[in-house]
Amino acid sequence: MVKKWKCIACDEIANFKGLCRTCTKYGDDGGVIEAVRRIRLDKYGNEYKPAQAEPRRLTHEMMLNQRRANRKITKRQRTQMQEQIKIQAEAMKDSIEVSEDGLMEFGEEVEHIHGPDCSHEEE
Ligand SMILES: [Zn+2]
Repeated sequence: MVKKWKCIACDEIANFKGLCRTCTKYGDDGGVIEAVRRIRLDKYGNEYKPAQAEPRRLTHEMMLNQRRANRKITKRQRTQMQEQIKIQAEAMKDSIEVSEDGLMEFGEEVEHIHGPDCSHEEE
């Protein structure tokens, strides 16, 4: 997408931002006396409105806070967390029933086993 800038004073459109050369008043020495800045246009030709920076900044701050919080974790807390994960993993293991033939059964998600009256075709 080509970026466009428009002078709101004379509607002149340029492909670069900056001051409108027609409307900006220059002094004899080439210095700017009255600056008329072009506004950026979006792809619809309307005034370009930058995306709201607020939520992004908040997210950034949240990330920083999270990082700070992580740094605050002591070695003991970290060990406790790892213990917690271990306990959860053990609990998960207990919930998996191992049948007599050694096949694991994950609750209702029982794997399809080919039987004599199985319509499932072998690949
Ligand atoms: Zn202009």
